[in-house]
Amino acid sequence: MRVFTNPVGPGTLWFDNLATADGTPVGYDPQARTFVASPPYCANREVIGCNWIAPDPGAFCRSCAMTALAPDRSIFNAMPNWALTEAAKRWVLDNLGRWSWFRPEDRGTRPVFHMLAEGPTPVSMGHIEGVVTISVAEADEVVRTTRRQALDEPYRTMIGHMRHEIAHMLWWRLSLRADFLDAFRALFGDERTDYQAALQRHYNDGPPPNWRDHYLTSYASAHPHEDWAETAANLLHLTDIADSFAAADLHAPVLPESGWDAYAETDAARLIHVSATLAIGINHVNRSMGLSDLYPFVVTGAAHRKLAFVHEWLRRGALGR
Ligand SMILES: [Zn+2]
Ligand SMILES: [Zn+2]
Repeated sequence: MRVFTNPVGPGTLWFDNLATADGTPVGYDPQARTFVASPPYCANREVIGCNWIAPDPGAFCRSCAMTALAPDRSIFNAMPNWALTEAAKRWVLDNLGRWSWFRPEDRGTRPVFHMLAEGPTPVSMGHIEGVVTISVAEADEVVRTTRRQALDEPYRTMIGHMRHEIAHMLWWRLSLRADFLDAFRALFGDERTDYQAALQRHYNDGPPPNWRDHYLTSYASAHPHEDWAETAANLLHLTDIADSFAAADLHAPVLPESGWDAYAETDAARLIHVSATLAIGINHVNRSMGLSDLYPFVVTGAAHRKLAFVHEWLRRGALGR
């Protein structure tokens, strides 16, 4: 993620800022990727703290306009959880916009989001034909950590959920192209194998013992669809780690020339090498604060090939270059 210029004074602004350090209200223009100090702001600004601008007074911003179902406000903590969920969505949409996905110049289908609070029954997250369902309850750190431990996962965040579920949507978009499916199946396997049976087998028997040789996460071994979503989420993690590192004006010998743009990098091997090297270093920095690793995954040779494949298809982008 970039770091932004303050439009009304000195200093910088972070992606989630609603105001400058001296309190002047600002909004983020997702098309120009700059902050502005003038309305119209998103209609959700006062409701969930959305800081994007809207096309017209009283309208939703481009991100909030993709949310077709908002959570039931009567459910405990639904609104603060929804606010955090939408913030993660804006972050990931802005990342994907670097490759033109879901921006106005992308003529393809946009994702539709169902943001659901949880009553007594848990909400299953997932994607079906363009509709992404997200449980906003997972924005609650206790809920999320409890599930992470129950599922024995090393990493679980709202940004991670967004990247994974939108990745399923991106697969669906790409699958409409004649040249995608054969190439996908050659590397990830045939996604037409029974999905429900595969997930049931995964939850009953666990992953194969050697899953680390072939997959970034144990869940990726469940089915080619999940392998794609996990791999694409990791490609987005890695690209954004490198982009954020450079944007924060940090320096490391592994970084290419100054002004290097991780999202514009065409060489997947170079991007993965830079990102993974930075991630290993930041893992060490995190330990100085007793925090868990920034990037708790190991990129093996097989994962490398799949990440490069995803990079090629996502980078070519919505415009299909
Ligand atoms: Zn908004
Ligand atoms: Zn999935």
